[in-house]
Amino acid sequence: MEISELKKSAGTWCPHVVKGRGCAIYAERPSSCASFGCGYLHWPMAGDHWFPFKSKMVIVAEDAARMAIHVDPNTPHVWKSEPYYSDLKRWSWHAAQHQFQQIVVAIGRRMVAVLPDKDVDLGRVAEDEVVLTGQLADGSYSAMKFNANDPAIKGLRYGQEYKFKAPRLPG
Ligand code: SF4
Repeated sequence: MEISELKKSAGTWCPHVVKGRGCAIYAERPSSCASFGCGYLHWPMAGDHWFPFKSKMVIVAEDAARMAIHVDPNTPHVWKSEPYYSDLKRWSWHAAQHQFQQIVVAIGRRMVAVLPDKDVDLGRVAEDEVVLTGQLADGSYSAMKFNANDPAIKGLRYGQEYKFKAPRLPG
């Protein structure tokens, strides 16, 4: 995951990790680390199989609008295996019904939006880009990345407007 205070980008090792011991600067770790809440521990929908050392994935509630599944880049396809993929699809249905949350898989900076009826591979999502998910007029779902300053998405945030009418969304 990205740790802005350390200028650590997603998918890279933190220089303070000590193998077998954990964090070398635990007492002085950045606030992003101190406030981190592991979804495996805090999210009731995540069963025991989501234990990060076992699953090779970490569930992170990035904010109220996005649940991100950070995948170990050494096992980039593990999220497609069972029982994980069925969980992700079920969570995406739940998110769509409640119209407030995105389910995204992050493999480094590559992101895949997991939608109720499809998965959308967005490729590399740059730091100045945002991902929006929405429902089209025919009831299907879609996702697209935008530059954060694109006037077409002014006032929208990812996951916040689940049924927005963005003309540039792919069909
Ligand atoms: S908790 Fe420590 S090892 Fe982990 S990312 Fe933060 S500074 Fe690095």
